[in-house]
Amino acid sequence: MSGILITGGAGFIGSHLCQRLLDEGNEVTAVDNFCTGSRANVTNLEGPRFTFIERDITDGLDDIAGPFDYVLNFASPASPDDYMKMPIETLQVGSRGTMFALELALRDKAVFMQASTSEVYGDPEMAVQNEEYWGHVNPIGPRSCYDEAKRYGEALTMAYHRSHSLDTRIVRIFNTYGPRMRAVDGRVVSNFVCQALHGENITIYGDGSQTRSFCYVDDLVEGILRLLRSNVTEPVNVGNPSEMSIKKFAEKVIELTKTESSIVYKPLPEDDPKQRKPDIQKAKKLLEWEPKVSLEEGLEKIIDYFRSDLTN
Ligand code: UDP
Repeated sequence: MSGILITGGAGFIGSHLCQRLLDEGNEVTAVDNFCTGSRANVTNLEGPRFTFIERDITDGLDDIAGPFDYVLNFASPASPDDYMKMPIETLQVGSRGTMFALELALRDKAVFMQASTSEVYGDPEMAVQNEEYWGHVNPIGPRSCYDEAKRYGEALTMAYHRSHSLDTRIVRIFNTYGPRMRAVDGRVVSNFVCQALHGENITIYGDGSQTRSFCYVDDLVEGILRLLRSNVTEPVNVGNPSEMSIKKFAEKVIELTKTESSIVYKPLPEDDPKQRKPDIQKAKKLLEWEPKVSLEEGLEKIIDYFRSDLTN
């Protein structure tokens, strides 16, 4: 049994991690200020091995009693809609918040994991993004608050690793979906599925030729935990490499929900990445990990989830 602290523990990915780590018998402390996370995500985790602390991690973490074996830093708005509404908070949590999480890990000599993102690659010029690619990021555009916060988070993690020999992990998370996503988070999976279930128009931004690669949350959690328990200190991409255009994705959602909804086109947001597909050779080789859930299987699950959300 290990003692684990997760920042952003009430968020979509954070709460799945809490659940899985509790199921394994660990002691889990989650910290979240509910800025995008939700209370419902943690109420079903309550039990003797789970502690929840409502707090903005930029206010500090050093008074939290440990010791912890692992500190997982997953606090941040992550949907473009959310971080564009909260650019300063996003930069603060990625910089000051990450520093507090690193200091806590240093205090307890814990393994530290930074939740990073495919956004560190920006609008990539490479069709498939491997970890060696330095990225193509607009430092002042509307996505910069998230991209640069996450790039800074990686830099800070590496600095603690080099200067203090802190045992660190960096996971670069690609588009992920699954139960506990917020229906209103503005991302493409929740938007399309909820629009289809409500019989509303499906809103494609731009011409829909931009691509994404969607990973089901259970696969992501498995990859994250394998990385955590490895000794790999360089960044590792964790995502599903099966790439598809947003137009194709809309058609898939229409097919699976059997909706009468039609597609409408809206302006493409500024700096929206044209392509995204992870190279997962590193995760395959070093972690013996690859995703198992197909898009159809995963989509059926998220459709059921949002459908039962509608009837509750
Ligand atoms: N998108 C879309 N319609 C929507 C929401 C998003 O066409 O209702 C597009 C968006 O412009 C982007 C892709 O879907 O090209 C993925 O967007 P999301 O917000 O899920 O995350 P991103 O991968 O851009 O961070």
